[in-house]
Amino acid sequence: MAQSSRDNPQRTQRGFYHRIQARSLQAKKRVQNISKDDMKGFFVRNAFVILTVAAVIIGIILGFALRPYKMSYRDVKFFSFPGELLMRMLQMLVMPLLVSSLITGMAALDSRASGKMGVRAVVYYTTTTIIAVIIGIVMVLIIHPGKGSKDEFTKVQKVEQVSPADAFLDLIRNMFPPNLVEACTKQYKTHYAKKVVHVTMTVNETIFALNDSRGITQEEMIPVPGSVNGINALGLVVFSMCFGLIIGNMREQGQALKDFFDCLNEAIMRLVAIIMWYAPIGILFLIAGKIVEMDDITTMGGQLGMYTVTVISGLLVHAIIVLPMLYFIVTRKNPFVFIAGLLQALITALGTSSSSATLPITFKCLEENNNVDKRVTRFVLPVGATINMDGTALYEALAAIFIAQVNDYDLNFGQILTISITATAASIGAAGIPQAGLVTMIIVLTSVGLPTDDITLIIAVDWFLDRLRTVTNVLGDSIGAGIVEHLSQHELKKKDPEVCTTVMEVTDKKPYHAISLENDYENERLPDSDTKM
Ligand code: ASP
Repeated sequence: MAQSSRDNPQRTQRGFYHRIQARSLQAKKRVQNISKDDMKGFFVRNAFVILTVAAVIIGIILGFALRPYKMSYRDVKFFSFPGELLMRMLQMLVMPLLVSSLITGMAALDSRASGKMGVRAVVYYTTTTIIAVIIGIVMVLIIHPGKGSKDEFTKVQKVEQVSPADAFLDLIRNMFPPNLVEACTKQYKTHYAKKVVHVTMTVNETIFALNDSRGITQEEMIPVPGSVNGINALGLVVFSMCFGLIIGNMREQGQALKDFFDCLNEAIMRLVAIIMWYAPIGILFLIAGKIVEMDDITTMGGQLGMYTVTVISGLLVHAIIVLPMLYFIVTRKNPFVFIAGLLQALITALGTSSSSATLPITFKCLEENNNVDKRVTRFVLPVGATINMDGTALYEALAAIFIAQVNDYDLNFGQILTISITATAASIGAAGIPQAGLVTMIIVLTSVGLPTDDITLIIAVDWFLDRLRTVTNVLGDSIGAGIVEHLSQHELKKKDPEVCTTVMEVTDKKPYHAISLENDYENERLPDSDTKM
């Protein structure tokens, strides 16, 4: 009778050895079989990612190599010019992309499906933002980077005051822009003006006005309407969503508009495909320029250094543990494979510090590398890029508590709760542009009576932390699209014969992923003829 391997340890060892040998032989053969074509194919397929990663590495080396030459401000601006061009090109596409993708995304879904998807997206945004705020608060309370003294900081300037109530009202006002053309260039913002008020006094039912000549006058700051430059993304999002929904419900009558916006969207995405080839050069100069320009890191004080470490740790916990875990729990797929597909978008976010400028690249990565359904990306991404900013929320809560610690100001539970709520609102209100979070943080500080001028204490490191929180923001939006797609499979599969945009019609005939692979923006056109009903 054959002896079982359990009885014969020598045999077991031999078997194990043979298996290893066979495997290594197989691997060797596979390596030998890799032809030049395979290698070429790999590089062509991953060309964007390889070039972008190379750009970051070269940018960092170049930046540090040029620092000793102490370039003038003008020279640095010349040097960063190719990077500035990339920013401008991406920003140029944001507005038409945001509007056309939201309109086509909403029109492609029936109102019930978009309602359900919308609820899922909002639940995801709220949950992740709250988790991010909690992580920020816990980190800053545990590490305690602020040591109750401001000696090592240099204050630079005064900061304009904003009342939290006015900021909140501005947020709602911006949702409904009275002029759509103006919304493409300006946002509403309350400004403050001084007004002289005459104090009145009532004595025995007679009203006395006490003005200058009699002695008492007061100066009061009153809110007046104003605006700031920059695209009012929130207003355009609200308008485009409603408009898309209406067009979708208009069925045959709305078809011409649907086709128009669908076509516009495709055209913009083709432009993105061209700009993507330029992106590595732009990113290289953006990063190198910033490194040349930055202040000497070694002079950074102990508290500011600890603050930087705290923010980085918080962002890492959220981006590397929380978000991937959430993705895995919901989809049961490997989150890091999904994140690998987003690499170019994440690096662009790092280079540009702007989640809205990164939006075109995020679209490309999600649709082409991760095969996320276009009806989901078109709907979820623009909204996410406008209102969902986990990194910003985490940073605002953390920075506010850090400023309290520096001022030796003890916060009670109610104040910490107020900080969490205002940090969430401030992250929604922050635009997806560089250092927008620093501006909206004034609301958080005012809400608990902290000195708003102290924002200048952290300005020195904000350019760097801004890049990291922008990466977290883009990652949060993208993972959100993956999760919403997974949860909405049922609605996406369901065929609605009356709602028919190009996207829906194509989807009805073939599995969507197959289409999105075929539909290479550079090589092929959408098969117009067979998609018309
Ligand atoms: N720069 C960030 C973004 O574009 C916003 C911020 O300042 O936190 O997402």
